[in-house]
Amino acid sequence: NSRRVMMPTGALGGGSGRSGSEGGSANDLVMLQQRRNLPMAAARPRFLSEVAKHETVILIGETGCGKTTQIPQYLHEARLEAPHAIAITQPRRMAAISIAKRVAQEMRVSIGSLVGYKVRFEDCTDTVSRLIYLTDGMLLREAMLDPLLSRYSWIVLDEAHERTISTDILFGVVKAAQRERRVTTTNLCPLKVIVMSATLDADKFSDYFHKAPILFVSGRQFPVDVRHVRDSQDDWQSATLSTLFQIHQEAPERHDMLVFLTGQEEIETMMRQIRRIAKDISGPKMTLLCLYAAQQTAIQQKVFFPTKAGCRKIVLSTNIAETSLTIPGIRYVIDSCRVKAKVHQPSTGLDMLKVVRISQAQAWQRTGRAGRDAEGQCYRMVTRAEFDRLPKDSTPEILRCNLSNVILQILSIGVKDILKFDFMQRPPGDAIEGALRQLKLLGGVDDQNQLTPEGKKMAAFPIDPKLTKMILRAKDLGVTEEIVSIVALMSGESILVTPTAKKEEALNSRRKFVSSEGDLITYLKIFRAFKSSNNKDQWCQQHFVHQRNMTFALEIRKQLIDLCHKLNIPIQSNVGQTDLIRRAIAEGMFVNVAKLTREGYYVTLDSRQQARIHPSSVMFQTKPELVVFTELISTQKNYIRNLTLVDANWLLEAQPDYYRQHRIVTGD
Ligand code: ADP
Ligand code: MG
Repeated sequence: NSRRVMMPTGALGGGSGRSGSEGGSANDLVMLQQRRNLPMAAARPRFLSEVAKHETVILIGETGCGKTTQIPQYLHEARLEAPHAIAITQPRRMAAISIAKRVAQEMRVSIGSLVGYKVRFEDCTDTVSRLIYLTDGMLLREAMLDPLLSRYSWIVLDEAHERTISTDILFGVVKAAQRERRVTTTNLCPLKVIVMSATLDADKFSDYFHKAPILFVSGRQFPVDVRHVRDSQDDWQSATLSTLFQIHQEAPERHDMLVFLTGQEEIETMMRQIRRIAKDISGPKMTLLCLYAAQQTAIQQKVFFPTKAGCRKIVLSTNIAETSLTIPGIRYVIDSCRVKAKVHQPSTGLDMLKVVRISQAQAWQRTGRAGRDAEGQCYRMVTRAEFDRLPKDSTPEILRCNLSNVILQILSIGVKDILKFDFMQRPPGDAIEGALRQLKLLGGVDDQNQLTPEGKKMAAFPIDPKLTKMILRAKDLGVTEEIVSIVALMSGESILVTPTAKKEEALNSRRKFVSSEGDLITYLKIFRAFKSSNNKDQWCQQHFVHQRNMTFALEIRKQLIDLCHKLNIPIQSNVGQTDLIRRAIAEGMFVNVAKLTREGYYVTLDSRQQARIHPSSVMFQTKPELVVFTELISTQKNYIRNLTLVDANWLLEAQPDYYRQHRIVTGD
């Protein structure tokens, strides 16, 4: 392939040092030496000559070879960024902050000056900032206000292999800005783009950017011995724990260990368990550290410090250590082979974080973390057969998530024709059509597929437009507090626990909250009681309420309230006026209406499906005439869940044409 340029590796130097660096402290010298030893340093001259010749360059390099920290510095040292700044995107907020700090340190400047970062709720940049690390979502928000990205001369789309929704949309946005700055007479310099990825499947990036050249930088990678569990493990946490202690006790050398888990809570629980077990066993001392998104950077920086003599460092991490951050010294990797990923629930239209199996490509990335300094070992918490059944690559988020949100975002960047948007990977046509149809009914886009003022507000909310519609209607009805709480309660996993063995007890303990107006109103009553309780632990236990999920809902509620304030939507409450609350729900969820038939089952008005009320619903016995639901579950039978009693007149008033068409009033 003539587009491929292989890079030499291993050689020292490459002239990456700054003049005058030699005068620094011992620490600076160590850092300079580290920089010069990175595989990327040897590739520096070649890299600079390629980017001088081409508008877009694809750069592929093993995790840890120096892409994220070095590339922007090379551009800066060669004075290539003038007259504007370099943007480097990261899918994760924590990586953006932590890497910006590292680069500021390497360049011996204070963070927020020449080197800065920008993430949601935090802008640590200055007018003099030239190297700006920011989340992909943040650059997308900037593009909504400034589609030409005029603040930048260079856009570096990093971690492109992760294919987050924001990065995927940015591909199109950046390509359009490049074209615009090339062909129209703006005062702006050409926009240069670098796409960086840690995996080898670079052709699609190259093809998308007019056959841009691909540069490969081979890293240092030692062989890693991979082992799988013999039997399938449902309880991967226990399997991980026993593997961890087995290595800890049996492996003679005190090399460091990296454990891939799925989230903060799991990491913290495992930390406690390890501490407890470690007290009772022999073996070298251990330094336990963790890495997850919502962590203070100071604490997180500890993973980069060398271990004390005689200590084994054990790092428990989310998939942030998969490609975003490289931890030195790791020889053992334990991989749960699971990750928390965004998945779309077609039934509610909500995107949820859910623990799912990783792809083989991800598993190999994680395996590679054990072979950076020397030969290593990787223990996978799946069987060999299970591993073989894992998908080869992960599905890009844009093919898994709610398209109405994606469409709103693209339109709010000023794209005129959504059907012609230059997707790197186009979602199926009927998925786009379906999402557009729904957005039209909700009033977010008009007949020309253009954003309405209401649609602009919907784009600002990171939730399904149906739910935003509920909030916008609640504003007119004066019940925003109630609706925001309900939306928050619907956004996570179930707040109720109903163990089969204690079903009666659980139902009895919550009986006083049950509302004849439906499940959503019942949730709201439970939420209010929870909020006003003094002892939350005890209260949750007493009423079989899932405390963690409830706390999560509180956090989402807070974020939604902040957003409402920003958009001048007042938070108003109207206690006792549950009919107003139900009306707001009905007008948002109006495509999810089900009507009772003479035969005693329900039929959904939009898709004409037969369904029954789910046994967990408070309306299982009462069977009202007309309900809206948030979820339609199809197993052998269809079940509707999370119901609210509604009035046909509300729906007719809100959507007259739609409901005349769907024959809501006359019995058929
Ligand atoms: P890539 O983007 O190619 O994965 P990076 O540029 O992020 O690589 O990292 C290059 C090297 O710098 C890595 O080997 C990593 O260990 C080291 N490094 C990055 N951040 C820090 C830090 N905060 N402290 C110490 N070393 C770091
Ligand atoms: Mg990187």
